[in-house]
This record gives sequence, C-alpha cells and structure tokens, in this order.
Amino acid sequence: MYAGLGLPWIPPTLREDRGEVEAAVRGELPDVVEEADIRGDLHTHTDLTDGLAPLEDMVRTAAERGYRYYAVTDHAPNLYMQRMTDEKILAQRERVRELDGAHHGMRLLHGTELNIGPDGEVDWPGEFLDGFDICVASVHSHFNLSRKAMTRRLVRACENPHVNVVGHPTTRLIGRRHGLDADWDEVFDACARTGTALEVNAQPDRLDLGGEDILNAKRRGARFAVSTDAHSVIHLGYLRFGIGTAQRGWLTPGDVINTWPLARLRRFLRDGRAR
Ligand SMILES: [Zn+2]
Ligand SMILES: [Zn+2]
Repeated sequence: MYAGLGLPWIPPTLREDRGEVEAAVRGELPDVVEEADIRGDLHTHTDLTDGLAPLEDMVRTAAERGYRYYAVTDHAPNLYMQRMTDEKILAQRERVRELDGAHHGMRLLHGTELNIGPDGEVDWPGEFLDGFDICVASVHSHFNLSRKAMTRRLVRACENPHVNVVGHPTTRLIGRRHGLDADWDEVFDACARTGTALEVNAQPDRLDLGGEDILNAKRRGARFAVSTDAHSVIHLGYLRFGIGTAQRGWLTPGDVINTWPLARLRRFLRDGRAR
C-alpha cells in the first residue's frame, strides 16, 4: 500500500500523525533505534533495595542477553524505606568490581538512583557521588508542587554535575497517576545544555518519557537512555517496550547513549560532570 502511494514503508511505531508522512515524502524518515542496538541497561535494582533478585542473578541474566555493559543503580538513602547506608552501597561496589567482566566480558558500572528532593537536591554530598560511575536521579515524592517550583526543581537536578540521567522524568503511572506539571520545554533545554540524558523508562506502566515528549526533547538537542528500571530478572526483558516508545519519539541509535560503545558512554558521563 505504501508503495502504491509512492511512499517508503513506515515503521508501525512511527504511524502517529506526527509528520511521518511528510518525512517519508522527503525521504527523511528516521532510522529508528532497535532492540539489538542497545549495548547495556543503565537503570536496574537488586535485592539490596527493592529489587527481588540478588546482584549475581541480575548480572548473569544481563550478560546472557548479550550486553556489553550494565549499570547497577540501587536506591539512595533519602528514600527512607529502602534503608540504604554508605556502608551497604560501598560493600555492593566491592562486589560489583569483583563481578566486572566475569560474565561474557560484560563490564559493570556501579551507580545509584538518587531522589530529587522538593528543591531539586539529591542524596549524598558531591564527594561521595564522585565514587559512582553513573547517577540516575528521579522524583519519587512531592508530586504536586506548583508548575514553577516543579520546573525549578527538575532544572536544578539537571544542573547538578553528578546527575547523568533523569529517571522516569514525568513520573506518570499509566491509568493511575498523571505526569508532573512542569515547563518541559525548559527542562529539556536544561538537559541538552548540561549533558544530562532523559530516560525512556521501559516499565509497561511507566513508558516515561512518552513518544511526544521524546520527540520534543530530541528537537531541543537532548540525549536519551532507554532503560528497564528492572526490579527482577524478568524485567530485563521489558526493554522492548522502551524501544517501542523510543521509536514513537523518532529516536535513532545516535540519540541513545546506551547504544554507544562503552568508551563513548564514559566520555559522555564524564563530560556531563565537568559542566
Ligand atoms: Zn525510581
Ligand atoms: Zn529505579
């Protein structure tokens, strides 16, 4: 049918009436990211916090998926019910270093998922955060600030040089909770300016960012991480839902930091911290 209309085939995930027909006419359809392009997951949990599986099981399962690298990002102490401490996260780091490369040569990054407080502050002082390879930062509480305060909060988190990725940026839960009210243009601009990636969270009840926001953020120059936020080994397979969402936002492998080789990813994480 597309051929009959003189158009190239348009991937189903692009069929959202967001300019894909016009782009097809011009021969400018994006070469969208595929699941096979992903080299590693950058947001995952273990049973040290609210995950169900031990570190070893998560790492082994990730390696069996063929990943080249994998980040362990358990919750930080300000999410009090997780009972995180400096000692616990440092002991985990030791274990992560021991397992680094032990399964099919897959490299491990030791990270954390920080909490973005009501004023945009995060857990742990800068010197302690320096010890992590990657920091995801997410909103887990105080969902009802004014639009102005919420925007300032998110921009401030992006401007924190230790924050590499904003996790599940709008915090929407499909069918249960609307996304945060913020000036997203301003937040996405801050991400582009500070080298902070936006997450495309692959949990089926999140899919956050969603397609339209992704497209807007991409046009504003932001980068993305498509991650599962896995709390069990089964969740690692949710990646495909994140990929479908990324495609709806027209993302190509170049836009997605976890399709990049590890050296390029590390450079991106380091450059973000230098700003
Ligand atoms: Zn989270
Ligand atoms: Zn998480």
